[in-house]
Amino acid sequence: MPSLQDRIALVTGGARGIGRAISLRLARDGATVVINYQKNETAAAEVVAAIADHGGSAVAVQSDVSDSAAADGLVRQTVERFGRIDILVNNAGIIRDGLLVRMSDDDWDAVLNTNLRGAFACLRAALRPMARQRYGRIVNITSVSGIMGNPGQANYSAAKAGLIGLTKTAAREIAGRNVTVNAVAPGFITTELTSGLPDKVKESILGQVPIGRFGLPEEVADAVAFLVGEGSGYITGHVLTVDGGLSM
Ligand code: NDP
Repeated sequence: MPSLQDRIALVTGGARGIGRAISLRLARDGATVVINYQKNETAAAEVVAAIADHGGSAVAVQSDVSDSAAADGLVRQTVERFGRIDILVNNAGIIRDGLLVRMSDDDWDAVLNTNLRGAFACLRAALRPMARQRYGRIVNITSVSGIMGNPGQANYSAAKAGLIGLTKTAAREIAGRNVTVNAVAPGFITTELTSGLPDKVKESILGQVPIGRFGLPEEVADAVAFLVGEGSGYITGHVLTVDGGLSM
């Protein structure tokens, strides 16, 4: 029997990049996956179809997680439709890079609202049903930028560092209900988010990565699958880096 058989998983931003790889992986492990997207309906439909082609089960649900009411609605719809929510992966994220001295309030707010407040809102909405069912696995996708800092990413690093604090506090608050809350901190992973980096920046990053290459979305999905899988029920409040050694 697949390890996540009968589990209901919600992946925010689950249609592209790392989120797509997580959706495909959780479905492969037997979960029914609610794939949240904000704008890209075509990508979401493609992932749902790919999962169905392999005998899995998935639905796509539009929602802007930076809006608390919409995030609440996303979790509520999941529970109404499937009767429970076992796994929440807070993956949705954006960047609005720029040096701190020139960073606008809008760029700060946009990144904090999506990357931190969105995760908070989904997490808060999922805690009650998970506590009631005495089971839950939550994974927040943070970043090495939240651990090490990164020039040009004050907003992003602050949001991702905040996500680590949120992970540890939620983990402590809910641990007694058999709900774990962990974070995965990717380094540089090949997705649309990083494809726009100038070649010079990419070369300089690679020079700092001991493994000497960018990571794959599937390698982040492997870490998520481990943290939501059967063997990790005693792991909570942990930040698992998937960064080729960059942050050690
Ligand atoms: P992509 O830009 O490829 O994908 C981002 C996803 O987030 C899209 O599916 C997008 O949906 C969704 N999204 C953005 N804003 C919202 C919103 N308000 N509500 C719902 N969904 C939203 O990014 P990656 O796959 O590279 O990144 C995924 C996560 O991993 C992010 O949290 C990112 O910070 C983190 N990360 C990525 C790294 C990398 O190197 N790529 C490194 C470290 C962390 P839609 O397409 O519908 O707009």
